[in-house]
Amino acid sequence: MSETLLTSSSPSDRQRSRGRLIVVTGPSGVGKGTLLAAIRRRHPELQMSISATTRSPRPGEIDGVHYFFYTREQFESLRDRGQFLEWAEFAGNLYGTPLAPVKQRLQAGEDVILEIELQGARQVARTWPEAFKLFIRPPSLAELERRLRERGQDTEESIQKRLATAELELKAESEFDLAIVNDRIDRAVQELETAILDATVAQH
Ligand code: 5GP
Repeated sequence: MSETLLTSSSPSDRQRSRGRLIVVTGPSGVGKGTLLAAIRRRHPELQMSISATTRSPRPGEIDGVHYFFYTREQFESLRDRGQFLEWAEFAGNLYGTPLAPVKQRLQAGEDVILEIELQGARQVARTWPEAFKLFIRPPSLAELERRLRERGQDTEESIQKRLATAELELKAESEFDLAIVNDRIDRAVQELETAILDATVAQH
């Protein structure tokens, strides 16, 4: 994580950062991507950060669109040069938010959404305290397992790792500004939309 770069920005830099950083976290499989895709269809002006990962692309995933896909060596080299706003190891792979595009957009007054897991969200909370942090949770762990299996994108080993991590992640809900239960998608989209718009309007 690039603690130096972030903490070295002066208060006047921060005041010029008129955009708002919005962090969306929740266990893998909870539906963060689906909810955010619905929000973006309604609000194309909202920017999503494109993460870097060492995970292999899933069918249909495009490099530079869904993720920047890197080898572990490439990722570690970028990380060691302070190029990530935050990064974490999740289910055996590395994930990170490229710092430069996020800084540029915030300074241009644009709001930026990060869809990241818990360790990364905690790093952002420390280094970027004015970020608005949202937590998405499933109605139950059993339902989360059903969704992970239904999407059919992960190996059994990866599903087991994701479920074990989910149990820990669910205990962290109180660290967030707001929690939304993804029980019915239309309702959850509505709630997420209201929360994001309130957070971004409050900033401007
Ligand atoms: P997936 O492999 O299912 O795409 O992502 C696994 C987990 O990594 C999800 O919870 C997702 O939100 C999280 N994730 C994706 N990009 C990043 C990132 O840049 N940083 C962090 N910390 N987590 C990420």
